[in-house]
Amino acid sequence: MLKLKNLQLSGKKVLIRSDLNLPIKDGKLLDATRIVASLPTIQHCLQEASQVIIMSHFGRPDPSKPASEQKQFSLEQLVPILTPYLGDSIKPTFATTIQDALAMDDSCILLENTRFFPGETENDPKLSQELASLCDVFVMDAFGSAHRSHASTAGIVEQVKLAAGGLLLDKEVQALNKITANPTRPLMAIVGGAKVGDKLRLLEKLADLADSLIVGGGIANTFLAAKGYEVGKSLYEPQLQSLALQIMDKVETLLPLDVVIANGLDDEAPIVTDIESMNSEQMILDVGSNSLSSYASAISSASTILWNGPLGVFEKPQFAKGTSGLTQLISDATAYSVAGGGETIAAINTFGGKVGYLSTGGGAFLEYVEQGGLPTLKLLDKHSV
Ligand code: AMP
Repeated sequence: MLKLKNLQLSGKKVLIRSDLNLPIKDGKLLDATRIVASLPTIQHCLQEASQVIIMSHFGRPDPSKPASEQKQFSLEQLVPILTPYLGDSIKPTFATTIQDALAMDDSCILLENTRFFPGETENDPKLSQELASLCDVFVMDAFGSAHRSHASTAGIVEQVKLAAGGLLLDKEVQALNKITANPTRPLMAIVGGAKVGDKLRLLEKLADLADSLIVGGGIANTFLAAKGYEVGKSLYEPQLQSLALQIMDKVETLLPLDVVIANGLDDEAPIVTDIESMNSEQMILDVGSNSLSSYASAISSASTILWNGPLGVFEKPQFAKGTSGLTQLISDATAYSVAGGGETIAAINTFGGKVGYLSTGGGAFLEYVEQGGLPTLKLLDKHSV
């Protein structure tokens, strides 16, 4: 893959595909992580190139309705939000259409939500060509969208003369390669969250790749049930117990020793019990302190850690101790750690954790680990100077 930092941009028009699918409520930005992550590439291009056009998708507008009827998905609302981050009194000029952007000679342009353009999600080559006509150099920096073959991600890479990976994309790939390609061993994987079914391919991949595995959340319940433990009314997937057994055959797996149980999500007074003492009416909603102690010694002997998914329903304080405890253990570990996935990022931010690398990707992060690459990145690899 060509890297942005190795390209000569002087006098060139650069089109950047960023991931500015930001959490905005009532015109206010709730979390700046994605802007901050996208800034180095944008600022580098603003300094070097003659024109910078930034594009991104934003939410899920209905492509059959006109943009004027779906203003809540317009990227125009990002102009005042983005401007203070750009510095040097740079205010991007907003372009509603590709034709408008083509006619502008402003140094910084923000293009309308790519999902307003017909053909974006279908990866229509006509749209990719139109987008490609905007630039001399295309910079793909939207790691979080690199698993989707859309016109503004994969499609355009096939239409432009020169395409390179941006600084964020490069950072993500380097961090994830430390897990998927020749990791420093022992490699410990920690997979929590709601369902085995949603993380089948990830778990299967990690069964081969990792030296040990911690399972948490609803995922652990299916593993516990497969081992013959009572899981009562907990979330679990009986049909995936055989898969859980296969995984445990392949990789040393640490199951919870004690769990936080309650009558339901709104139960404010849960209790901690050994896993052997569960009864059929109870529901497991977090792991207990003995489980955390067993994870602590395993984590201290790992050299590389991959983490995806909370160990309990961490959104509720009474079921958050497992995930906050794990965040602390990983923050204190000497191992190189990489974490990613929507809820994992939220947990790390909530509990103030520090990891070696926090991926900005959700689906893209999981797919990269599963496959050791992504479709858009494979296309980028075909470009050379
Ligand atoms: P995922 O997107 O698969 O990583 O799942 C994250 C969600 O799993 C979070 O919103 C948690 O509330 C939920 N979760 C974690 N542990 C459990 C559990 N024991 N039972 C039900 N849901 C859980």
